Amino acid sequence: MSDKVVGILGGGQLGRMLASAASLLNIQIVILDVGEDAPAKQVLASSKHIDGSFKDQQKIAELASQVDVLTVEIEHVDVDALDAVRKSHPNVEIHPAPETIRTIQDKFRQKEHLKKHSCPLGEFMSVDPTPDSIKSATEKLGLPLMLKSRTQAYDGRGNFLLRSLSDIDNAINALGSGSRPLYAEKFLPFSKELAVMVVRSTSGQVASYPVVETVHKDNICHLVFAPLHIADAGLCKRAEEIARNAVTTFEGAGVFGVEMFLLKDGTITINEIAPRPHNSGHYTIEACETSQYSNHLRSILSLPIGSTTLKVPASVMLNLIGVSDSMEPIKSVCSKALEVPGASVHLYGKKDCRKGRKMGHITLVAPSDAELHDRLRPLLETLPSSSS
Ligand code: ATP
Ligand code: MG
Ligand code: MG
Repeated sequence: MSDKVVGILGGGQLGRMLASAASLLNIQIVILDVGEDAPAKQVLASSKHIDGSFKDQQKIAELASQVDVLTVEIEHVDVDALDAVRKSHPNVEIHPAPETIRTIQDKFRQKEHLKKHSCPLGEFMSVDPTPDSIKSATEKLGLPLMLKSRTQAYDGRGNFLLRSLSDIDNAINALGSGSRPLYAEKFLPFSKELAVMVVRSTSGQVASYPVVETVHKDNICHLVFAPLHIADAGLCKRAEEIARNAVTTFEGAGVFGVEMFLLKDGTITINEIAPRPHNSGHYTIEACETSQYSNHLRSILSLPIGSTTLKVPASVMLNLIGVSDSMEPIKSVCSKALEVPGASVHLYGKKDCRKGRKMGHITLVAPSDAELHDRLRPLLETLPSSSS
């Protein structure tokens, strides 16, 4: 569909699903990842992928020299290296824009940016990793207080919920003993977590996927229900609008994941934005007319963006998260899923299973919400107890 070669920084599960989408469109992909056998490299094994870090300037330059378009499957990349690529390889397009990745990869800068553009947010403030600074943040934002690492955060690793002042030392230790920059957010007792995937073309056209409900467990995404079932029809429209407006404030093409909180009074605030395909958009592979992965590729290659409409009445995505070093509990859920109508099993090909590691997911589609829950029940019952 395109003669352009796409380079992807990062070779995890998102890169793997991008590579699968690329293979359907016969788009050539080169992956940069330290893992020789990284999940994304397994899909297009004949491509000449690069072994190296997406934080290594030289390796990023090597990738740039082999491709026409660069994109990311993770935001924790070396943005200075991308800026250097702009100068050394002016013909290589980078999506989204390096400046967008720079802003988003620092969650405090991201919040400041969204605030400047009048996007709805909970209160937040900068803190130093010291007892005095954290104490004064509790005086302004109250307890409990959500302390967050500004950078390198994922799956809640980098968050600490401070319940009382006596927890401050534990919080500082857990968040890098003063070595990592932090900020604080007011704790929001949300009624639901929502997410909207937004796709933006190189010409600035913006389309959104339906609003979904995400359910987190221990700070990690556990379930995603699409579409969101809620009596207030205007709410979905509002959430999509907030997500689209937020994405419009950033430069560059591609898919963005917008995580939001729905508060008890109906207010919607943005939690964070990912400048790439997102866990809460896995469901789009089976449940939408065009997957987020296909649309990410289409958008960065200036191809027509595909319909983002749901093609099934109900769907749910269940993350398969390691509970120990053994893959067996996950395999049991997958075996069960093979017996369930409408279930699609995705295993990421990660060599080592570890507690808390995302090893795969299952998407279920169904003709009704009631049927969806009937199909989901046996899978949840098979999930190992520490992850159910
Ligand atoms: P990921 O990038 O994998 O989504 P992360 O490490 O960036 O995760 P966050 O999205 O900041 O982490 O937070 C993880 C979860 O913690 C949220 O999905 C939500 O359940 C909870 N959480 C985060 N911030 C707040 C807050 N201010 N108030 C209440 N709960 C919060
Ligand atoms: Mg995050
Ligand atoms: Mg998050």
